[in-house]
Amino acid sequence: MSAPAGWEMVIGLEVHCQLKTRTKLFCACPNRYGADPNTLVCPVCLGLPGALPVLNRTAFELAIRTGLALGCEVAAETKFDRKNYFYPDLSKGYQISQFDRPLNRRGALAIDAPGGKMTVGITRAHLEEDAGKLIHADGEEAGGFSFVDFNRCGVPLVEIVSEPDMRTPEEAYAYLMALKSLLEYVEVSDCDMEKGSLRCDANISIRRPGAPFGTRTEIKNLNSFKAVAKAIEHEAHRHAGILEAGGRIEQMTLTWDAVAEKTLPLRSKEDAHDYRYFPEPDLVPVTAPADLQDRIRAALPEPPAARRERYVRELGLPPYDAGVLTADKAVAELFDRLRAEGLPPKVASNWVMSRLLAVLNDRKLGPAIFLPKVTRIADIAKALEAKTITNQVAGELLAWVLDSVETETVAARIASLGLAQVSDAGALEAIVREVVARNPKIVADYRGGKPSAVQALVGQVMKDTKGKANATVARELLLKVLG
Ligand code: ADP
Ligand code: MG
Ligand code: ZN
Repeated sequence: MSAPAGWEMVIGLEVHCQLKTRTKLFCACPNRYGADPNTLVCPVCLGLPGALPVLNRTAFELAIRTGLALGCEVAAETKFDRKNYFYPDLSKGYQISQFDRPLNRRGALAIDAPGGKMTVGITRAHLEEDAGKLIHADGEEAGGFSFVDFNRCGVPLVEIVSEPDMRTPEEAYAYLMALKSLLEYVEVSDCDMEKGSLRCDANISIRRPGAPFGTRTEIKNLNSFKAVAKAIEHEAHRHAGILEAGGRIEQMTLTWDAVAEKTLPLRSKEDAHDYRYFPEPDLVPVTAPADLQDRIRAALPEPPAARRERYVRELGLPPYDAGVLTADKAVAELFDRLRAEGLPPKVASNWVMSRLLAVLNDRKLGPAIFLPKVTRIADIAKALEAKTITNQVAGELLAWVLDSVETETVAARIASLGLAQVSDAGALEAIVREVVARNPKIVADYRGGKPSAVQALVGQVMKDTKGKANATVARELLLKVLG
């Protein structure tokens, strides 16, 4: 990704994160994804006249936990405000949010950007309710109608607003990865982007290096971190085009068209941003006394940065390994489970990084699929460490463990299929001679001064033994036979 030549980007992100509560923010309706439309609603979350909101204590505490995890100052007293706007998915005509006295302020998030470690300031992290969802049905059947589902109305959100501290799309991407990882670690949200439980709006402006900040535009409707990075880059180039032609940037909100890969104007700032905030009269200010904050702080699960450090300090892992293993909490749990099965840290780390993550990538699955199988995975790793089996057989056994529901142990499988590594020179010598006899061309290459040709012969021996030959022994035998 590249900035327009001669310009520097300035980026600030607003992330909406749904909190993992049983019920909604101000009513007892379930906070659950995927139910039939409009089945999880009541007069409060629909905003029927006369209905009264009551603050969900768990949501309040999770929002404090989010603030503490982000190193914010948590307000001793906070209040709610009405943010008024008309939108078809907001039946009340206003959203209960927080305006001038947000719950959390002035935090920071350490991130690992391509240019090195850096800190992004957190301006605020406040509590608010989610709106419903519009479903635009194109296609003939639906006749071009739009439908509205209010199930999401009133789901608790924390809006995390960053300072305009990022300068490249890569830094924005790294920030989002670090934030998601942190929110998952401290168990405030499942952060499932496909279900919309983590959503991001991007603010971007450009300037000549060292000049004051330029006018920003805001991009909404970004449903993946890659889309955020792409949209920022696209928008920066659009700004540069306008500025270089002598124009000026109008502050406005745009939407990202992921198919055309471009931003499209949604509304300009002048006509859309007078929300007429006023204090929510149906809710009293709430306090977060020091003892409550202390209790929440004491129960804060270990964040990723601390776990990464612990892996380096206590387990002696290279920082690179520790970083990969702790980026995703589920991966770190998998690593811990493998160690609990008796694998040394570096062995467990190698297995996760070089084998298991590759499987997940191929199959587009989460690390949880390995959990019921950790004992057998560890047994394969131990058999490989003990040189009972070859690398190739280890790979085959792993595929077997993943794809079968059988409970046969790894040791039994090795015995029943005769998968043990063959290191016995006597047993291998006949095969080696046969391979040499069958490959005169390669043998001639070798004898003609191309020592690397022996590798091809080792490959043949491995093939003949279905991957079970001890490659080192096979190689020694080949060298001996070849003279
Ligand atoms: P609004 O209520 O209009 O969304 P906020 O004060 O909440 O405004 O700011 C939104 C975001 O815009 C923040 O993340 C902030 O870092 C970012 N931002 C502010 N000024 C700029 C700028 N000049 N360029 C890029 N981002 C900016
Ligand atoms: Mg905003
Ligand atoms: Zn409700």
